Amino acid sequence: MTENRNYLLLTPGPLSTSLSVRQAMLQDWCTWDKDYNEGVVTVIRQELLKVAGLDDSSYTTVLLQGSGTYCVEATLSCSVKPEDKLLIISNGAYGKRMGEIARYHGLNYAIISLKETEPVTADIVLRALVEHPDTTHLAVVHCETTTGILNPIEEIAAAIKDHELTFIVDAMSSFGGIPIDIAGLGIDFLISSANKCVQGVPGFGFIIAKRSRLEACKGVSHSLSLDIYDQWKEMEKGHGKWRFTSPTHVVRAFFQALRELQDEGGVEARNKRYQKNHRVLVEGMEQVGFKALLPSELQSPIITSFLYPEDNFDFAAFYEALKQRGFVIYPGKISEAPTFRIGNIGDVFPEDFERLVQQVADIRGGVR
Ligand SMILES: *Cc1c(COP(=O)(O)O)cnc(C)c1O
Repeated sequence: MTENRNYLLLTPGPLSTSLSVRQAMLQDWCTWDKDYNEGVVTVIRQELLKVAGLDDSSYTTVLLQGSGTYCVEATLSCSVKPEDKLLIISNGAYGKRMGEIARYHGLNYAIISLKETEPVTADIVLRALVEHPDTTHLAVVHCETTTGILNPIEEIAAAIKDHELTFIVDAMSSFGGIPIDIAGLGIDFLISSANKCVQGVPGFGFIIAKRSRLEACKGVSHSLSLDIYDQWKEMEKGHGKWRFTSPTHVVRAFFQALRELQDEGGVEARNKRYQKNHRVLVEGMEQVGFKALLPSELQSPIITSFLYPEDNFDFAAFYEALKQRGFVIYPGKISEAPTFRIGNIGDVFPEDFERLVQQVADIRGGVR
């Protein structure tokens, strides 16, 4: 059960990974050898399209070194040209971060900031588009990991269908764990990373892009290392070759993680497990006196925010006590109410959440 684990990570990433994913890192790889480029990187790129239900005539993938934010920054800065205008609708820290990226790069942009408990709806997007009629690019976060709220990208996609916008979705914490019909929704750039729902380890991210939109990024970037057009060209030409040193061990682990996603039964099956994790967690926590921040209809199965049960709740002590018992949870990140978060994703199962709730009951001195 413990599989060489110091503790179980119930966090928004990096997450608890399987022993086999960690073992996949025990070999070294040469970055210009075809065993690695064709046998690992190219297969990953094909597999990502398969997981996404896409065919490679209209969509393609770019892998990029760094954490997820590097990919968000690369996508925004390579796709928004000086004559364009980016509209960001934010309801949390990751939406806000897209605004920071736009500001750093001097992009022409507007950001609409909602309350952290308010979903980004089609109505809100349409109203923002009336206010900013010169918008060419729309960026939203799918699962806002700040709270665990799931923004309804399906209704947003339907509402903007005739606007011919470039639609950018930060699906960092949902891709692989929540089914997303990328082509059906007309998503132009979808961004995610190795260490979230695919259950790999941290070190790189990826962008699933509509080919025509990625081709239009040629020559736009002011950053060499974040130029996803150039990175893509090199990967295509070199059959999986990265421009600069790639995180070989992390990439090999991701290759294994994709296999395990397939073995589990794909995204639908993984989603079911996460749903169950979430249900066991929330029902159990409610029994011991905790309340979830969000109503269930806004809640994702990815991560759950809980309100402090009383004003003088000592989160630091609670965190330490849980860590002693083998579970690492996460502080809250919102201004509206004191909260903490518990992640439902990774190589974690309903039984783990049963055990967690038992420990919480024990720490709180209550019986279930
Ligand atoms: C994890 C995450 C990111 C990227 O964060 P990094 O710390 O750069 O990996 C971006 N957006 C969302 C919604 C996330 O959950």
